Amino acid sequence: MPQQVHVLPPDTIENMKTYYTNALKTTPQGAIFRAKTANAVITAYKSGKVLFQGKEPAAEAEKWTNANTKVPKRQEKNVQQPPYTPPDTLLTGNHVGSDEAGTGDYFGPITTAAVFIKKDQTDLLKELGVKDSKNLSDESIRKIANDILKLDMPYSLLVLRNDKYNNLQQQGWSQGKMKTMLHHHAVTNVLSKIDPTASEGILIDQFCEVPVYKRYIAAENERLPAKTYFMTKAENYSIAVAAASIIARTSFLKEMDQLSKKAGFTLPKGASGKVDEAAARIIKSKGRGVLNSCAKTHFANTKKALHLL
Ligand code: MG
Repeated sequence: MPQQVHVLPPDTIENMKTYYTNALKTTPQGAIFRAKTANAVITAYKSGKVLFQGKEPAAEAEKWTNANTKVPKRQEKNVQQPPYTPPDTLLTGNHVGSDEAGTGDYFGPITTAAVFIKKDQTDLLKELGVKDSKNLSDESIRKIANDILKLDMPYSLLVLRNDKYNNLQQQGWSQGKMKTMLHHHAVTNVLSKIDPTASEGILIDQFCEVPVYKRYIAAENERLPAKTYFMTKAENYSIAVAAASIIARTSFLKEMDQLSKKAGFTLPKGASGKVDEAAARIIKSKGRGVLNSCAKTHFANTKKALHLL
């Protein structure tokens, strides 16, 4: 078995012991510690001698024998802090939150809002009833949105209407990419309206894996702004995301009102059988082409509606 022996200073041995915390084995007599890694078994003795034995003792010894080598970061066993999880201080501090609406609805656009909330606005927003819009009736959402939009609160609201959505979809954009770019642009719009040092970060209501999100924006030559964090169900933890959710949802409702007016009847939300029937009704009365301006035509509802004719 290949092995190496080195004499190392006491502080290096101390650093090693910390570094190998999660790999420590029973300490033999006369030793300070013994650790086992994939490369080697390392035994440090009180005399300062350190024995590296095993498959690749040189690779392990190299970390410690070069005087200029900085202390390697401690090996963590299964404890990897996801870098995009927001610190608790973000949720209670000044921050930007973003959320979208309309992604699961056959009729209507995707609306996305980002908003910057200051710490001292939190109580007022809570009093106004800001919480996740999914748990609020359409009427209370409209009322709360009306109240909060009167506040001094930099925000950006983007509406991706159906004709543009369908166009992008036909060009090969996934809905995930559309959502990503909407969030990204809404957030950067808000950042351009505020003093960046005033914000502790950005929280995005997470809908895809972070590397996927980053890949989408990189494909459009954009970069993730500094201090961007992701979290699922973020509206339950962040008042900024909850406010963004209400603004996006209200905009979606308004768009649906307008589309319903054009259609001549109330367009149902969601993507259920009722939606198939409404789509069939539109095809019958106005022709299939009209769906392009009021529906996400790649949803299965289009085919189902055609079967109903
Ligand atoms: Mg969301």
